[in-house]
Amino acid sequence: MADQVFQPLPTVPDHASLEEEILAWWEAQGTFEQLRDRNRGGPTFSFIDGPVTANKTLGVHHAWGRTLKDVFQRYKALRGFDQRYQNGFDCQGLWIEVGVERSLGLNSKPEIEEYGLEAFARKCRDLVVRSAAEITGASKRLGQWMDWGNDYFTFSDTNIEYVWRMLKKVHGSDWLYKGHRSTEWCPRCGTSISQHELVGSYVDRADPSLFVRLPLRDRKGESLVIWTTTPWTLPANVAAAVNPEAEYGLRSNGEWVAVARYPDEKFMERLRGSELVGWTYEGPFDDLVGAQHRVIPWDEVSLEEGTGIVHIAPGCGSEDFELAQVYGLEMLTPVDESGRFYNEYGWLHGLSTVEAGEQIIGALEEKGRLVEAGLHEHRYPECWRCHTPLIFRIADDWFISVRDLRQPMRDANGTVEWTPEYMGKRMDDWLVNMGDWNISRSRYYGLPLPFYPCACGHLNVIGSKAELEERAIEGLEQLEELRRPWIDRVPVRCVECGEPVERVKEVGDVWLDAGIVPFSTLGWENPTWIPEGYATGAAKGLTKADLPDHAYWEQWFPADWVSEMREQIRLWFYSQFFMSVVLVGRSPYERVLGYEKMLDEKGREMHSSWGNTIDAEDAFARMGADVMRWQFCAQPPDRNLLFGFGPGHEIKRRLLTFWNSVKFFVDYANIEGFTPSWQRLDPAGDLKPLDRWLVERTKRLVADATAGYEATLTVDVIRAFESFVDDVSNWYIRRSRRRFYSLDEAAFGTLWYALVQSLRVLAPMLPFLSDHLWRNLVQDGPASVHLAPWPEPAAPDEELLAEIAAVRRVVELGRQARSSSQLKLRQPLRRLVVTGAADVAHGHADEIADELRVKEVRFGEVEVSELRVRPNLPVLGPKLGAALREVRESLRRGEFEELDGGRFQVDGHVLEPGEVLVERVGREGWAVASEDGVTVAIDTALDDDLRLEGRLFDRIHEVNVLRKESGLELTDRIRLWIPDSDLLEHFGERLAAETLAVSVELGELRLEKA
Ligand SMILES: [Zn+2]
Ligand SMILES: [Zn+2]
Repeated sequence: MADQVFQPLPTVPDHASLEEEILAWWEAQGTFEQLRDRNRGGPTFSFIDGPVTANKTLGVHHAWGRTLKDVFQRYKALRGFDQRYQNGFDCQGLWIEVGVERSLGLNSKPEIEEYGLEAFARKCRDLVVRSAAEITGASKRLGQWMDWGNDYFTFSDTNIEYVWRMLKKVHGSDWLYKGHRSTEWCPRCGTSISQHELVGSYVDRADPSLFVRLPLRDRKGESLVIWTTTPWTLPANVAAAVNPEAEYGLRSNGEWVAVARYPDEKFMERLRGSELVGWTYEGPFDDLVGAQHRVIPWDEVSLEEGTGIVHIAPGCGSEDFELAQVYGLEMLTPVDESGRFYNEYGWLHGLSTVEAGEQIIGALEEKGRLVEAGLHEHRYPECWRCHTPLIFRIADDWFISVRDLRQPMRDANGTVEWTPEYMGKRMDDWLVNMGDWNISRSRYYGLPLPFYPCACGHLNVIGSKAELEERAIEGLEQLEELRRPWIDRVPVRCVECGEPVERVKEVGDVWLDAGIVPFSTLGWENPTWIPEGYATGAAKGLTKADLPDHAYWEQWFPADWVSEMREQIRLWFYSQFFMSVVLVGRSPYERVLGYEKMLDEKGREMHSSWGNTIDAEDAFARMGADVMRWQFCAQPPDRNLLFGFGPGHEIKRRLLTFWNSVKFFVDYANIEGFTPSWQRLDPAGDLKPLDRWLVERTKRLVADATAGYEATLTVDVIRAFESFVDDVSNWYIRRSRRRFYSLDEAAFGTLWYALVQSLRVLAPMLPFLSDHLWRNLVQDGPASVHLAPWPEPAAPDEELLAEIAAVRRVVELGRQARSSSQLKLRQPLRRLVVTGAADVAHGHADEIADELRVKEVRFGEVEVSELRVRPNLPVLGPKLGAALREVRESLRRGEFEELDGGRFQVDGHVLEPGEVLVERVGREGWAVASEDGVTVAIDTALDDDLRLEGRLFDRIHEVNVLRKESGLELTDRIRLWIPDSDLLEHFGERLAAETLAVSVELGELRLEKA
């Protein structure tokens, strides 16, 4: 065995180490570059990567998305498509800021300002640089082929300029406005939260529940009772709302409440809500800030909770704010942007909303105003970055009106092909319901909004760096990046009145940064190609990405395909959609693959505090990237993925079946000296029917896999591959094993062809294992499976496939029947009867007999099975009522008639298929299995001959185990001793042949190498 053609395979693959080896080999060979060179100038497939936030290491949920992107880019590359492989990093916004704040121990905006914005900006960039390097390393380890080093970073000045241009256009169309609104606000982050950031941030919380008495000014001894779960808003109370249609009643203790809320109480007086309107009352804290308080009508007042009288604080709630506009109410804003009470709130000054809540409850109690205090469980929104409960606050924010954009966006969405389809509907729902886009954030490390509102009333919007330079009054020399603090030192001249104007302090929503990418990275409207032109501002030194010219944009826009997690519908899918409709009036992508959420293997959310998150590095080491990728690819995109080491283990087990098939080929090809040739891929020679079947079966795999990839459904490819592996291992190799004990060219050639084709199909999903095995199996073809072209799909011989499928089904049922009888598969049996199998299976009686170790196979009516029919109680009970008992008894006694279509007649009732549970069991001495109209019955009776033969197979099995344990090669001949004189007498030759023994003698069981 000196000149082995194939590298022998170990019994079990070491995924992690073979992957490292392949990575190094790709690197050394420049495999990816070779692939790109080959495809350059070919048809294009445009993919645009959604940026990952560069604030951490790679999580396994990112690895999911990255795998899908990589799979389809690899598939398209195999098909010869020229592609862009630009990876993207999201580099600005609160994720980055909060990370840096934590590392520096800063807890508020004043602390950041004290630390210094310049130093803070540097730290933010450092975090991005570190994180980008880590994400890149882990992505490479995952096997993702990207144009690393030419990534886009959204904090580049170029990216920022492109957003500026978009905003200028928005302003030109009159869609930009500054709104004075009540908005959800994170007191820790000190900024407003926009609508798309709010979805999914509701959590279950227990908050204080207070019933508070507010004395009426003109009705001595009487008071209103209101209910609130946000005590901190009470000092800002200016009104109490009643439902004008509802009835209110006066309790004997002088309290007014809605009658509907207390139906069992006695009331001294009853009035309609509309009659209460206009009453005035004493506020809960008039000693702090004096204000008018009156009763107003509001149709929305709920009679489902509270007292039916609603506390209104327009400075602390969005509906309250709107009511204030209608009724001209005073607007008290008690807390600053960090959620702490202003000076004028006396003893509350400086307290947070939570701290104030406790003090307020105490103060109300002292004043005798507290009716009741408890806890209330409800869903309440919290900040998606820092998990602080949100409050409502009045703020001035910048908005883009969606009034004119909603319909064009819905129309554009109609042109997009979504997989799964319902996600397109989700996008439409979002577009129908979206409010104006709040694009401003009162923060630091973000896109500087280029708004310069002048005292003369003119809003100057700067559209580019060149325009800024042209209109700047001073500060250009220190403008290192288009970023705070540097840009705030560059005032411009008002185009209307010529006076100096300063920029607003706000930065932009991060989704502006990510949404502009289909324009900023592709060189939209850029007159000339600029080498490394994207590497500007903070991105300088981090990437070598060019800024292409407009012709390039024309070529690559819109994207043929994008893929991200479902939550990106309202985020990245939305923001790039929005900007694309604004700029060019159409969708930036044609097809989308979305996918649901990742949970842990038990179906729980993954949280670091629960200890069930999995680090990607850990998964690479313990599972291997291929096994992770398989787990991602096997997942239907419309369901949550339950990811973990448990499922990983199961995948390894399945992959082992495939590995064993390759190992079987390698072992015997080495022994027999089989040498295949890539030039003659199709098997030649005297093909047996089974060989011809495997060739057709392989064509089926290629066709199914191609269809799966084309539909962007990896789950279909995995299923096709798994069923193919089962056919190869449990049918072809099982049935042909003996042919590999000599140099049967047709058998070797056919198996090699099938394995090679399956590696090509597997390559996009499992790039490491497929290349590792390819390099072993294909020695005169393309050096890497990733450089071999995609196998041309051809229509297989469906008749032949159906025939063998029918045979395999009979065998499968036969195995089930045998195992139900507890007889070992090694024990030969006398007879088997098959009913209902396709006619085509009839010609395969010998194979069926051999597989199931029976002496005789007969096709015909199975009379040996007994039909058991039981009522399906939940269905039949309601239908039959009292008659059920009788029917049940008749069924038990077997007194029924079988009708066609799976129906039964019993006691004059006709029972439909779903109403009964049907079971076919073997009569005494027979084992039966049945499924979808095919029934297999096996005679389980044993006689002395069968028993003796059964012992023969036991003995052969035992000897072969002993061979393995003794470390013998597959081809080693042995001398064998067995203790059974009867076996020796009847089956001596057969024993010798099956165990490669040159001699078999009587004695204690042992063997030695001959
Ligand atoms: Zn926050
Ligand atoms: Zn002006």
